[in-house]
Amino acid sequence: METKLIHPIFKIISECAAEMNTPAFVIGGWVRDLLLNRACKDIDIVAIGNGIGLAESVAKKLGNKYHVNVFKNFGTAQIAYEDYDIEFVGARKESYRSESRKPIVENGTLVDDQNRRDFTINALAISLNINDYGKLLDPFNGINDMEICLIRTPLDPDITFSDDPLRMMRAIRFAAQLNYTIEKKSLDSIAKNKDRIKIISKERISEELNKIILSPIPSIGFKLLFDTGLLHHIFPQMTLLYGVENRNGKSHKDNFYHTLEVLDNICKTTTDLWLRWAAILHDIAKPETKRFELGHGWTFHGHEDKGSRMVPQIFSQLKLPLNEKMKYVQKLVLLHLRPIVLAKSEISDSAVRRLLFEAGDDIDDLMKLCEADITSKNAYKVQKYLKNFELVRLKLKDIEEKDNIRNWQPPISGEDIMNTFNIPAGRKVGLIKNAIREAILDGIIQNEYQQAFEFMVIEGKKLGLEI
Ligand code: ATP
Repeated sequence: METKLIHPIFKIISECAAEMNTPAFVIGGWVRDLLLNRACKDIDIVAIGNGIGLAESVAKKLGNKYHVNVFKNFGTAQIAYEDYDIEFVGARKESYRSESRKPIVENGTLVDDQNRRDFTINALAISLNINDYGKLLDPFNGINDMEICLIRTPLDPDITFSDDPLRMMRAIRFAAQLNYTIEKKSLDSIAKNKDRIKIISKERISEELNKIILSPIPSIGFKLLFDTGLLHHIFPQMTLLYGVENRNGKSHKDNFYHTLEVLDNICKTTTDLWLRWAAILHDIAKPETKRFELGHGWTFHGHEDKGSRMVPQIFSQLKLPLNEKMKYVQKLVLLHLRPIVLAKSEISDSAVRRLLFEAGDDIDDLMKLCEADITSKNAYKVQKYLKNFELVRLKLKDIEEKDNIRNWQPPISGEDIMNTFNIPAGRKVGLIKNAIREAILDGIIQNEYQQAFEFMVIEGKKLGLEI
């Protein structure tokens, strides 16, 4: 392992530890990621003794150019060094109470510290001590688990998960990120302890959920969340998508698995968390809008509109930001059927113009969502739909070049209307402004000042206004 500790910082920490007679180890995520060849900028150092003192001594050796942030309450200290975040802590032993994930902490040995880690692959440590510098300390056979791609708790999983239920989310997150399997006993234990998730804050749960969503194949994580019952606690609306109903020999697709397919599909074209959220939520209102109509079969009329209106409540419940990101997700959910409608019919300029106007700069993301939404098993159909979307894209480009409508403002403003008719701000101004905008989008008049002005005069007359 010694050759793997390439960065000179490890020798510096080692020297300081020797001078202080305080054994030190690099531990946890950094070691795991080193062995997995994943880049990791967070280095955790555990000292058998005074972690804060070790950090101060390292900073001194680095020439006092680096500030030590001390968190006395946690007994930790942190140095931002180059683009690394190095955290120092004294080895600890933890014991838990049932009502909180905050443990009672005492000083401990390296083994105590490894025992409190969540998974065998996260309990690996490498010695920074002169007598065995670079030696890997792997008390739970984490290396073997890495070879067989297994998530396993070092201790009895019932204790690990009950002590700190966030670890259940972390297990599933690592399974999704690394495409690992969760050991059967550990998985059963998650299902058994799922109700304990209630003691974890919504913010922490969502942090892990977002990491699952940002993993290469998020469906791995969502299936585990669903199968263990955790999803029913943290995001019940999504579980309602599950299941197939059959009536008069007609069944609809399972919208839970469909949603997961759409999510996995979109992950091939974007790493953006919010576009991925739009994929998760695009059909969220299908259960509420589901009807069986004689002659039509299953319908989900208005699910895009209802779904878009459900977004703020879901974001609020999950403590996701209630800002422009949420509005972006709402917009994509609302518009997600529009390109499909365009692809199905003869594409008119006005329909394309209207979509461009409503989607604005998010049009490319919307097209990605629609393409990801094609989950037919029939390869011929998939090709046909994709080809249709290609046509929609061409048409969008064409109209955008011609009309430049994306971030468009109509040529006549509300102010122009007030000045022309000498009226104050109010309902009539809004009506005229809308009418002009609609006329341009429908292609009744050209997108230019003179035609818009004449149209405004006509619309004003209808409302009893004279210039
Ligand atoms: P990532 O860096 O990908 O977010 P990580 O688990 O490596 O994940 P941290 O959350 O900083 O990063 O955790 C660092 C180490 O601390 C882990 O590798 C693990 O050993 C330990 N750890 C973190 N959270 C817990 C927990 N809830 N229970 C037990 N050990 C934990």
